[in-house]
Amino acid sequence: MPAVDLFGNIIPDKTKKPTYRAYLSSSKWKKKCEEKKISVGYKCERCGKDRYLRKLTVHHLTYEKFGDEPLEDLEVLCAVCHKSADWKREQEVAERNYEKLEEARFQGFVRAKYGDNCPYPDEEYLYMEYQSWRKKKGDW
Ligand SMILES: [Zn+2]
Repeated sequence: MPAVDLFGNIIPDKTKKPTYRAYLSSSKWKKKCEEKKISVGYKCERCGKDRYLRKLTVHHLTYEKFGDEPLEDLEVLCAVCHKSADWKREQEVAERNYEKLEEARFQGFVRAKYGDNCPYPDEEYLYMEYQSWRKKKGDW
């Protein structure tokens, strides 16, 4: 079972630095990278630049099977595309976490104000109340 954070997102083994680094410097991983690069003809799978134009790296599409990942879980990317792929993934995780946090805050606000017997079945109204409370607090 992969580790999950407070919001149920899988925590990449990246955070367990020794394991992550040890694997990425292992010959098993290097061999797998080579295999993957051969399978796509030594080209970046996003922009098509080849190994003579840019340094090629292997990107994890998912960390689910980290350490024993099939080639389909990997993507060959040039350094430029790899950077933007990592950045995009971070943004997506941050966005998901923010939405969940916001939802939890809203639910907490409703519970704190009305307890379990909320007189308003209308979430939209409650959300407006919540928003003006946040504004008053100076959060927004
Ligand atoms: Zn590229």
